[in-house]
Amino acid sequence: MAGHVPAQAKLDMVVKIIGRSMVAEVCSIYLRRASGDLELFATEGLAQGAVHVTRLRRGEGLVGEIVRAGAPLNLSDAPSHPAFAYRPETGEDPYHAFLGVPLLRGGRAIGVLVVQNRTERVYSDEEVEDLQIIAMVLSEMVGAGDLLSQDQLKDVEIAPHRPERMKGARFSEGLAYGVAVLHEQPVAPEEMFSDDALAEDVRLKTAIAGLQRQIDTMLEGDRGLVGQSYEVLETYRLFAHDRGWNRGLEEAVRSGLTAEAAVERVRSEHRARLGQARDPYLRERLHDLEDLNDRLLRHLGGGANVSRSLPENAILIARNLGPADLLEYDRTRLKGILLEEGSNASHAAIVAKALDIPCVGRLVGLRDRVNEGDPVIVDAETGEAYLRPRPDVITAIQSRMEVRDQRKAQFARLRDTPAFTKDGAKITLLMNAGLAIDMESLPDTGAEGIGLFRTEFQFMVAEELPRLEAQTALYERVLDAAGDMPVTFRTLDLGGDKLVPYMEQAREDNPALGWRAIRMGLDRPALLRMQLRALIRAAKGRPLRIMFPMVASVDEFRTARSFVDLEVTWAHRRGRPAPERLDVGAMIEAPSLLWHLDALLPMTDFVSVGTNDLLQYLFAADRGNPLVSDRYDPLSPPALRALKTIQKACADSGTPVSICGEIAGRPLEAFALTALGFDTLSMPPAGIGPVKKMVLSCDRAAAGRGVESLLKSGGGSVRNEIETLARKIYVAI
Ligand code: PEP
Ligand code: MG
Repeated sequence: MAGHVPAQAKLDMVVKIIGRSMVAEVCSIYLRRASGDLELFATEGLAQGAVHVTRLRRGEGLVGEIVRAGAPLNLSDAPSHPAFAYRPETGEDPYHAFLGVPLLRGGRAIGVLVVQNRTERVYSDEEVEDLQIIAMVLSEMVGAGDLLSQDQLKDVEIAPHRPERMKGARFSEGLAYGVAVLHEQPVAPEEMFSDDALAEDVRLKTAIAGLQRQIDTMLEGDRGLVGQSYEVLETYRLFAHDRGWNRGLEEAVRSGLTAEAAVERVRSEHRARLGQARDPYLRERLHDLEDLNDRLLRHLGGGANVSRSLPENAILIARNLGPADLLEYDRTRLKGILLEEGSNASHAAIVAKALDIPCVGRLVGLRDRVNEGDPVIVDAETGEAYLRPRPDVITAIQSRMEVRDQRKAQFARLRDTPAFTKDGAKITLLMNAGLAIDMESLPDTGAEGIGLFRTEFQFMVAEELPRLEAQTALYERVLDAAGDMPVTFRTLDLGGDKLVPYMEQAREDNPALGWRAIRMGLDRPALLRMQLRALIRAAKGRPLRIMFPMVASVDEFRTARSFVDLEVTWAHRRGRPAPERLDVGAMIEAPSLLWHLDALLPMTDFVSVGTNDLLQYLFAADRGNPLVSDRYDPLSPPALRALKTIQKACADSGTPVSICGEIAGRPLEAFALTALGFDTLSMPPAGIGPVKKMVLSCDRAAAGRGVESLLKSGGGSVRNEIETLARKIYVAI
């Protein structure tokens, strides 16, 4: 095949060899044109005049049906099948028995391989299996360009090659342009075959047994820890022990594939079959199967090889990324991430944000549309991905990247300038953090401390529950890195959209309103107390600030605070130093507190307004659902009045208050907050520069008067009015 034989002659030879080895009178290869049509590319047994003439549209004929279903079709009498499309030019009248299998690459059917016989017969399971394996090899050869000339390949949908734009969700802000690196590397053609089927069989069986044991152990483990994913694990177990799944893999290995190639084959088949399913249940199952395949590859030692060297400007392409995956890539070369799945609260999103790597997720079908080495753009400002972009798109993105860099440089120059408004009010700008890595950016941002340390992130990126030592070690590192700057640790805010696989959590109809955050902490005092103990230990006598998330009633705060007292006493009894100063605060996220601030504030040392949640509850609009999350504007009278109520109550009672939701990091929103009288804002690191620029140009008194008058507006949003006001008084927003 490597010889200088014309491409068509090679294909003709291939159909001859396959036909002979399958004892078939007809063997044909159909390939998919970019138009979606399936064209007869080579045949042994049908009329040669039909080659490159016979074409079937998507879903037309038996061949079209095979592509649509992504599955083999085995018929004893093809012409009597309802989908049969008669094509006189092929001369296929005498053939009754028909076996066709899809040519799969990734989850895409790029063509169909067919064998036919005169007699009415049903091909055996072994024959179907054999033909599928031949098809797998054939697809790889076609895909690798071994069988067709570049010219012929141009119009064949072997590998995606047209520019594409995909819309997803923004997980970590920024822009990147680079080359695609597939996290889950397909098995290289030279690693597909083994000379020793027996040894491969042993490898496969050992890996499957290991996988089964792992899942069984997870299921038998402490139910309290497994909890929420119990159902999922049970599905895994069903699949892992499934005879059909095992048999498919074993047969593939027996016929000469390596164990990895066998997994790949079974995986492509599942993807092709289930990938088009609209049924959410089936799609979930596909997801489970993908996980299982990934696990099996890891057991084979052939999983993602993350230590491989990256090209410069690498854009990582993955279905999803586990906790440790991202950290193992070379950060200096990894410029962006595109994910097929994930959520804003998933590991990958959290770590990408901490590393300041632009990331777009929920790009359905991504992996089947991108090839290793393709140029790609991550537009994590709009939540889009451009695959193989056209030159004008590249130019546009490059100039946007330049503007971003210039702005960054401008903000960096403001780093050491204290944030005073023009009329002399000091605004304290703090940073939100959640992982040790975040602390690296603290000195660069010019933030004056950490206003919100989301302790649950450590739990979300871990494979198992972080124990006392691990928690203490993290908090100590954070406090050491912060030096004299204050750090406000928020106790675990798990539940809602932040789930960990190892903790029990029943499926809830309304997770955002469910068993989460401090509710969980109060019901599982051991968990909360362990964390408080770790915090007190890590402080080693230094000042400590702790706050509780999602407090909805004063009683909850009182009880939570009593646990802090218990832990201080506990430390004291063991001769450990108590924090030199201990501030305990509440997050204001549940609207109920707005009408009980008079009772709450005297019990607290400070409060912090979590506007992400407060506004979601105020407007009854799920913050994670794009259909409703942007429907209500934080710059609207109800939201601003609620915030003003909090600000006023805090000012009257002398309670320090900060805002730590995302809005604090957006210049226009921060302008409104400053105008309302808030003077401590805690935000994502990227917000500090732009917000400081706003503060430095702001006349707070004038802003206050303007915003105050807008609180009475009868309209929905006052965004435009606030923007006009800012421009009128020359504020840089
Ligand atoms: C908030 O709700 O505004 C907040 C800061 O907490 P989180 O985003 O972690 O829920
Ligand atoms: Mg919150």
